[in-house]
Amino acid sequence: MSDATITCPKCGHAIDTTGLVTKCPECGEDLVAVLQNLGRIKRHKAGLGRDESATTHEFIVRTKGLVKEYVMGDVQVRALDGVDLDVRRGEYLSIMGPSGSGKSTLFNMVGGLDKPSEGTCFIDEVDMAQLDAFELAWLRCRKIGYIFQTFNLIPVMTALENVTLPMIFAGMGQDEMMERGRELLERVGLGERYNHKPFELSGGQQQRVAVARALANAPAIILADEPTGNLDLRTGKEIIELLKELNDEDEVTIISATHDLKMIEASDRVVHIRDGKVERIDLREDLDIDVRTIDSMIGEH
Ligand code: ADP
Ligand code: MG
Repeated sequence: MSDATITCPKCGHAIDTTGLVTKCPECGEDLVAVLQNLGRIKRHKAGLGRDESATTHEFIVRTKGLVKEYVMGDVQVRALDGVDLDVRRGEYLSIMGPSGSGKSTLFNMVGGLDKPSEGTCFIDEVDMAQLDAFELAWLRCRKIGYIFQTFNLIPVMTALENVTLPMIFAGMGQDEMMERGRELLERVGLGERYNHKPFELSGGQQQRVAVARALANAPAIILADEPTGNLDLRTGKEIIELLKELNDEDEVTIISATHDLKMIEASDRVVHIRDGKVERIDLREDLDIDVRTIDSMIGEH
């Protein structure tokens, strides 16, 4: 039995709690007391919630000596080779590097989607390696919003259903969920399209739905892995402007991987990675790029 499994005290059913279950799916017994006894719910509030102590930390993400090795047969790939990175709360950070440099691998570590071979990653001073499966699921659901290059919407669900899905996992009530889902779709400019399925939307619109979904549980961090990679220049720029707006207005920390120069305009810092190492970090004021060049490129389309 894994540490994510508990037994229902009423009917004896074994329950996997990584889906943030708080009721027994078999008999409906309320499991909050059981989880509290295990120290889980209390620990979330102490260590991971959006509580006062958590919001006073200057760095929302810190990695120390992150190494990730993949083994494929006889070949060993060192995708990350000792990454130390501090990300300030409310920062807009771009991670740039050529294809294969380790951007997605770094994202998977920071987002708790995979585990490093060596080193540690802290979110709000919580060492992710110390979390059990339930706590990690809680952190992923409540603290982090994810945006991917390929949108990753669920094709059979409407825009509204896609956006509200993470709210179900967070245990939000039906009415609140619908209201919040509609508000978020309005926010990304898709108020009228809530009932559309992904195939009825353009690429840019699908990515807007993904942005709204990332915001579902008011995360402190948005991780965007090449969010403009599948979009044309103009649409890509609109998505970046939307992310920048969220960063300015809601103080969401944005960490975005890209090899796309137009991302730079919005960034506070740009971290360049190569062969799994941080090559250099540019501050916004030092960035050697003329924004007008990007605008003129877009004008040609
Ligand atoms: P990027 O996102 O910058 O394109 P990745 O993080 O996807 O780079 O990949 C970094 C390196 O790790 C590449 O050499 C890639 O082939 C390798 N890699 C990534 N994921 C895996 C995996 N699951 N198994 C084996 N090798 C992988
Ligand atoms: Mg990648």
